[in-house]
Amino acid sequence: MREIKFRGKAIDHGKHHGSMVYGNLSVDESGTWIDCGTEQESEWVPVDPATVGQFIGFVDRDDRKIYQGDIVAVDCDCDPGYYGTCSHAPNLNIVIWDQTEASFSFRGIMFRADDMHADYTDMWDVVGNVYENPELLAPKEGADKRE
Ligand SMILES: [Zn+2]
Repeated sequence: MREIKFRGKAIDHGKHHGSMVYGNLSVDESGTWIDCGTEQESEWVPVDPATVGQFIGFVDRDDRKIYQGDIVAVDCDCDPGYYGTCSHAPNLNIVIWDQTEASFSFRGIMFRADDMHADYTDMWDVVGNVYENPELLAPKEGADKRE
């Protein structure tokens, strides 16, 4: 079975405050909660619902679990020719849920979105997320912005 797991930013007043916590999700009239405890002992922590994202079932090349809202640098897949070496920078993508396609997907930050496909995960590197690394969302000086 695919692992079902969530992430969110803790809004407790204790040790987790402001950090990302990972585990089961519960939403009820008292708020949005993630259980970041152990198998033996639950530890439900209130989280900001706007920061909740699901584990998408893939890990990057460093075995880091990928969640909605993560920013993933994807290596260029151009063919520089037999003797060539690609010198293109990786392309930055945000992990989103695409309701139209009914799937998780990449949305390109500055350029095109890369294909999200199980065969390409060794080209992926999680470099942050949209909640903690807003600097990665800003176009770089002089960059050519495209839709
Ligand atoms: Zn290239």
